[in-house]
Amino acid sequence: MSRVFNFSAGPAALPEEVLQQARDEMLDWHGAGMSVMEMSHRGKEFISIAEKAEADLRELLAIPGDYKVLFLQGGATSQFSMVPQNLLADKESADYVYTGQWSKKAIAEAKRFCRVNIAASSEDRNFTYVPRFDTWRLDPASAYVHITSNETIGGVEYHGVPQVGEVPLVADMSSHMLSRPVDVSRYGVIYAGAQKNIGPAGLTIVVIRADLIGTARPGIATMADYKTHAESDSMYNTPPTYAIYVAGLVLQWLKRLGGLAAMEKINITKSQLLYEYLDSTAFYDCPVSAEDRSRMNVPFRIKDDSLDSQFLAQAQQNGLLQLKGHRSVGGMRASIYNAMPIEGVKTLVEFMREFERSHG
Ligand SMILES: *Cc1c(COP(=O)(O)O)cnc(C)c1O
Repeated sequence: MSRVFNFSAGPAALPEEVLQQARDEMLDWHGAGMSVMEMSHRGKEFISIAEKAEADLRELLAIPGDYKVLFLQGGATSQFSMVPQNLLADKESADYVYTGQWSKKAIAEAKRFCRVNIAASSEDRNFTYVPRFDTWRLDPASAYVHITSNETIGGVEYHGVPQVGEVPLVADMSSHMLSRPVDVSRYGVIYAGAQKNIGPAGLTIVVIRADLIGTARPGIATMADYKTHAESDSMYNTPPTYAIYVAGLVLQWLKRLGGLAAMEKINITKSQLLYEYLDSTAFYDCPVSAEDRSRMNVPFRIKDDSLDSQFLAQAQQNGLLQLKGHRSVGGMRASIYNAMPIEGVKTLVEFMREFERSHG
């Protein structure tokens, strides 16, 4: 068996230890005589798995007691419509910060439900930075403020939390949740699709302040109402059981590693290795403003972009996969989530150095 270094933006690499544990438990989970995939979601075995996953998530993120954790489906994309449908209440508008492709999609969906005030945008410099918080123009009539705290495609990450006053701050953390500690109390809602940094595709995690549940407009679909899921411990219908189980193993792995502060240190080290090299050479460049660069998604270009396809082909031959940039930005992108070992980043930097030597 030979495993590659997988730099995919998502679904993305999982920790090898987690995959091995899932393999070992595949046919017979803890003496149950069956796989987690085959269990009733209402049986005591699976309920214990879901409860442990929630307890570990709460511990890792230090989630305050007045927040609910929901294990949903539909991806972060479903949250683009669930957020306005649940949080607008009697208001007619919401603030959105426009920092790239994912906030663009969130904005387009919100416009189906309300007036959207673009409180700040980085479109003027092709989404390569986070607009300084003191320049945001919040609408006092808005029900909430929505940010995309890590733009997976552009590689732009918030390294601070904006002050937005009384209204809830809502964050799409799909591609950096669990990469660093977060002060959950600063947010009304945090959501993330699991397949970037948490587990397999199919699970969407929502962390929501309890007072924001139950305010959906009348007529909302049952499945779109946070209240439905909060009242039934995310078991109103069949939850994505296997994805919850594997995500739970990832959470246990994070705890063994020392939690999110320890994970953050590793992520700083890994991303610095790559950025320091990118900044040291004129052969490559990274378009993102230094202070807003993502520790998870690192976009970069070869100045001579006619070398791109050769770079990608040779990288692949060296076991470095999925480095092609998103079609909307071109170039390359290395997604280096929690599960990417530091050896993967070192191997990538060595490869890039070698490629520069032979083509520079
Ligand atoms: C991947 C991603 C999404 C979309 O997630 P799905 O689970 O495919 O719906 C939304 N927002 C961000 C920031 C993402 O990285």
